Amino acid sequence: MTMTQKLRVPDHPFPEPPAPGTATEVAPGVLWMQLPLLWALNHVNVYALDDGDGWTVIDTGLDTTKIREVWETLLAGPLGGRPLRRVVVTHHHPDHVGLAGWLCAKTGAGLVMPRTGYLLSRMLRAEEQSLPPRAVVEFYRRAGMDPELLAQRRTERPFNFTDWVAPLPLDYGRIREGDRVRMGGRDWIVRMGEGHAAEHATFWQEGGDLVIGGDQLLPGISPNLGVQPTEPENDPVTDWIASCERLAAFARSEQLVLPGHKKPYHGLPERLDQMARGHHEALDRLEKHLAVPRTGGDCFAPLFRRSVTRDSYGLALAEALGHLNALVAQGRAIREMGDDGAWRWRAA
Ligand SMILES: [Zn+2]
Repeated sequence: MTMTQKLRVPDHPFPEPPAPGTATEVAPGVLWMQLPLLWALNHVNVYALDDGDGWTVIDTGLDTTKIREVWETLLAGPLGGRPLRRVVVTHHHPDHVGLAGWLCAKTGAGLVMPRTGYLLSRMLRAEEQSLPPRAVVEFYRRAGMDPELLAQRRTERPFNFTDWVAPLPLDYGRIREGDRVRMGGRDWIVRMGEGHAAEHATFWQEGGDLVIGGDQLLPGISPNLGVQPTEPENDPVTDWIASCERLAAFARSEQLVLPGHKKPYHGLPERLDQMARGHHEALDRLEKHLAVPRTGGDCFAPLFRRSVTRDSYGLALAEALGHLNALVAQGRAIREMGDDGAWRWRAA
């Protein structure tokens, strides 16, 4: 899931995305496919790597009837009816992990993902809620959610992981930082990113120019760096900037990055620099905005260069908290509890 700043887009060698149910070969034996999403961002990218005797698939889309049908078309068509050997998931968000369990059950493929993502996916699937728990309502009140919206949300079924993610296999293969894995006739080094999702896997081809980036390395849009009710003091913006700076050491202009959304691109060194700079600048604008005390819900204007709709309000609030927590961690802002039960942040 993504939102926030629109940034300058780097060079895209494949200008047209593959039509639904078809694939574009972006390198020998590497297929790019798109699945629909139901959100403002209307697609997610998945990839298939030719292992000779079958395929490794990277990411899987949301679990909906329609997207299962698209997979059926892809398996019979571009993947030529050859077996899936492995389903690799970059991170635990529903648009990436959603159909992993279904694909594994259907094809006999093994699941491969980071341990944090696997455990979070299993945990979140086990917690179905018909109404937001009291602690979650309190979290939103402290964050400064618009009171009318909060009153409405208290009465509605919240976003449930289990509505969008099929049951996961009871075992999986763990990948961790620095691992070497063989996929599509190539060796890849696993490097983990932080900030958008805990332990987000990226794959860097050894002796070649392909990088599988998931949502850690997106062109044109900045992924959501959100604070969730389970970890209210989390500081994902600082983690994100640190990941951009760390991964920059491995980035080269000639690499072709295969992202989780939008189109494959060249120009990773510039893109990483641009993403880190974008959040540094957002922190500067937010700090100025805190010349007077503000709630989290009062902080959208300096962060987002587009209007925040009701649909994107939750993501926007989560990301506002992310930047506010970063300013507090850096000693640039302090917060005090207001009489209405909502924090007020102000510049230190
Ligand atoms: Zn995503």
